[in-house]
Amino acid sequence: MSMQNPVFIPGPTNIPDELRRVIDFGTIDHRSSVFDEMLAPAIAGVKRILKTTDGEALVFPSTGTGAWEAAISNTLSPGDKVLVGCWGMFSHRWIDMCERHGLNVIVAEANWGDGVPLNAYAAALEGDTGHAIKAVLATHNETATGVKSDISAVRAVMNKAKHPALLMVDGVSSIASMDFRMDEWGVDLAIAGSQKGFMLPPGLAILGISQKAIAAMETAKLPRTFFDFRDMLTANGNGSFPYTPPVQLIRGLDHAIAMLESEGLDAVFARHARLAQGVREAVNAWCLKLCATSPDLYSDTVSAVLVPDGFDGTKVVTHAAEKYGVAFGVGLGEVSGKLFRIGHLGMLTDVMMCAGLSTAEMTMLDLGFPIKAGSGVTAAQEYYRNNPVATAQPMDKAA
Ligand SMILES: *Cc1c(COP(=O)(O)O)cnc(C)c1O
Repeated sequence: MSMQNPVFIPGPTNIPDELRRVIDFGTIDHRSSVFDEMLAPAIAGVKRILKTTDGEALVFPSTGTGAWEAAISNTLSPGDKVLVGCWGMFSHRWIDMCERHGLNVIVAEANWGDGVPLNAYAAALEGDTGHAIKAVLATHNETATGVKSDISAVRAVMNKAKHPALLMVDGVSSIASMDFRMDEWGVDLAIAGSQKGFMLPPGLAILGISQKAIAAMETAKLPRTFFDFRDMLTANGNGSFPYTPPVQLIRGLDHAIAMLESEGLDAVFARHARLAQGVREAVNAWCLKLCATSPDLYSDTVSAVLVPDGFDGTKVVTHAAEKYGVAFGVGLGEVSGKLFRIGHLGMLTDVMMCAGLSTAEMTMLDLGFPIKAGSGVTAAQEYYRNNPVATAQPMDKAA
C-alpha cells in the first residue's frame, strides 16, 4: 500500500496536510485552562455541523461504534423495545449491539440496496398504542451499500403516529459530508465519528443529544460508566473531562470544523454531491450497476458497485491494493464478493477522484471485466469539466 496515494475507502478518509500539522503538538496538561480553550470551540463547532441549538454535543475517546453504545446505554433500560431497520452491515451491527445489551429489538428488514423501510416503521409505530417502543433507530447513510435514507421521513412517520419514542440516527458516514439537520428532523441522538467527514484519524465518538435524550437518561437503567453522559456533561461544564481526553483529536476537531466552514458547509455538501455524480457517471459508462436500487437512495459519500456475474468484488480491492497501492472498500456481509465500494468523502478533489476512477478502471481491465478502457474515466472527466465547482476547491491556495 502506497502512503502517497489517497484512499478511496469510505473511512477512515484522507487527512489533509494542514490538519495533520495542527494535531502534531506535544503534551499539554488537560487540567489546565489550555484544554478548555480547545474543548469549548470544538463542542460549539459540532453543534453547528449537526445543526442543533437545542441539543448538546459530546465527544468521547472511541469510534462510531462507541457512540452507538453511548446512545443506547444512556437512554434505555434492559428489556426496552426498540424499532430498528436492517438494510446493510452497519444497521445489522447496531441491531446486534442492541440485542447484546438486552434490549427487545423489533427488526424491520429491507433488502440490501434499499433504504429505511418506512412502511414497516409506520405499521410498528401505529400498532404500538401503548408506546412500548422506546427508541427508533435508523442509519442515515448505510456505508455497506451506498444507500442514503430520508431521516425527515422517519420523523414524519413518528409524528403521524404521535409516537414519543426517541429517534437515534447513525450519521457516521454522512455527518459533515451530507446535510444533517438534528433539530429540524427531531433527532434525539445523532452519532458520528472523527475519521469520516471530519477528516481526522479515528479515535473520537461524536454525539449530538437532544433535551429529550438528556431527560431519558434520568430513568435509563442500562449500565454505563465510561460513556456516562452525565459525567461528561458535568465535566465539560467545568471545561474538563472525566478522564484523560484525546487532546490532539479535540484540537483537530475544532480545526477540521474551521476548514469545513471556511469552504462553507453547503459548498462541502455540493462538492460531495458533484464528486459522487462523477463516480456514478463512470459506473454507468462501465455498464455496471450500483447496489443502491434507485437514484433517490444514492449516497454522496460512498458508491457500492456491483460486479458482473462470475466476478469477485473482493478481488478488485486486493488487486488494486497489491498492484497500484490504492485502497477501495470490500463488500461486507450479505454483499461480500458481490461488489466493491468507492469512498468519496472527506478531503477529496476532482483530480483525486479521477485518479481513483482510473485505478478502478485499470484494475477491472486487469481482471478481465467486460468494460471499455477509458470509458469510466472519460465520463467522469466530462462531468467534472462541464460542471465546474461553483466555489473554490477545498484548501485552495490564496491567489
Ligand atoms: C464507519 C461506520 C460505523 C462504525 O464506526 P467505527 O468508527 O468504525 O466504530 C458505523 N456506522 C456507519 C454508517 C459507518 O459508516
